[in-house]
Amino acid sequence: MANGSGRESMRIWHPCTQMKDHESYPPVFMDRGQGIYLFDREGNAYIDAISSWWVNLFGHANPRIVAAVTEQLSRLEHVIFAGVTHAPAEELADRLLKIAMPGLSRIFLADNGSCAVEAALKMSHASFRNLGHPEKCRFLFLSNGYHGETAGALGVCGDRLYAAPFKPLFIEQIEVPGPDCLFCPHGKARETCDTECFAPMDAAIAAHKDALAGVIVEPLVQCAGNMRMYPPAYLAKLRRATTAAGVHFIADEIAVGFGRTGTMFACEQAGATPDFMCLSKGITGGTLPLSCVLTTDAVFDAFYHDYVDDKAFLHSHSYTGNPLACAAACATLRIFEDDDVINANKAKIAHLQRAVRERFAGYRHVMDIRSTGWITAVELYADPGRKEPFDWRKRIGFQIYQEAIKRGAWLRNLGDIVYFMPPYVITEAEIDKLADIALDAVKAVLK
Ligand SMILES: *Cc1c(COP(=O)(O)O)cnc(C)c1O
Repeated sequence: MANGSGRESMRIWHPCTQMKDHESYPPVFMDRGQGIYLFDREGNAYIDAISSWWVNLFGHANPRIVAAVTEQLSRLEHVIFAGVTHAPAEELADRLLKIAMPGLSRIFLADNGSCAVEAALKMSHASFRNLGHPEKCRFLFLSNGYHGETAGALGVCGDRLYAAPFKPLFIEQIEVPGPDCLFCPHGKARETCDTECFAPMDAAIAAHKDALAGVIVEPLVQCAGNMRMYPPAYLAKLRRATTAAGVHFIADEIAVGFGRTGTMFACEQAGATPDFMCLSKGITGGTLPLSCVLTTDAVFDAFYHDYVDDKAFLHSHSYTGNPLACAAACATLRIFEDDDVINANKAKIAHLQRAVRERFAGYRHVMDIRSTGWITAVELYADPGRKEPFDWRKRIGFQIYQEAIKRGAWLRNLGDIVYFMPPYVITEAEIDKLADIALDAVKAVLK
């Protein structure tokens, strides 16, 4: 039996969900996935427009990934990763470090995005401690940033929605006003500005320098923070400022990595190699949970000592380096290489951006349409002219999401933002169909 729609029968407590909503909107009982489509038990198809929370790259049940995982499953499904290595982990290290920006030479594995962030924060601080600077234990983060929901990660989340209710439970780090290209206080545009908005970050680094271990940001797009986008020049400035101050630049590419912003990694667009890069989500093509932290020789060397010096990095998860997940990641990276995916994506990205703009530009409730690579967001306001948002209690975005489900697209909203972040295997015809469904759903709600 599925969860029913009554309180008594709801055994499964879903994430990011007010369970009472399920009285009116019972969870869709998904049965299978194929390519960009999800199919429910009744056989209804839905375009997975947000890649199942941004993880799927090459479609559901991708045969190449399925084959790699299946082969691995009957060989070695899991093994302790301390004192042990295995072929999928070795191949993953080879492949990832080969495509990572020069300077990133070491890989630490974990099993979900939040835990990669935890590992990076701990590693950053511990490396300074090992070098005789235990006082360097603070982190700067951007307002509106999101880095996962475990306690350490929440400490660097600017996102009111996720962090505020749990403030008593975690160590709050130092928030810095982030870039706001939608309502730029300098009256500039993202394409042509001089990232004047970097000034508060510059000032904060100077003010806290001695206590700082690092600065953590989501490069180019603050995804969970309503798909807010900012220019690469901000990252180049951040690289220069952190290097000058002797603190770490931690790039959380969990959502934007693996081609989402058009380049393999978002930091490439700024030519800025971070000291830590956190990766997850797309790493297995959306097949299995896996994450990693890439870092530098300098960081690695801070821990590389005789045992009795007591400087090892202590952090572990039971499923660290799971061979099935690593095999899925290797298959995913092979697809990138074999199909020249980053180049092949360019035309589709342009098509998606155009398709959404053509339909939504000029529509009376559109406050903003913005794109970075595969990510295109349409922000809806009650009155864009007066910069007046909808009353959040009306749940306009949520209603649009429900209307889109009826029309065959899974377009889960972020507040009153309808956004597109589809798997890379979507065709141009399917992009057009998706954009049509989105506009119809918006019109059905805002008629
Ligand atoms: C999703 C996400 C995380 C957290 O990853 P989980 O696997 O959900 O724990 C962290 N940072 C960013 C930028 C994310 O988008």
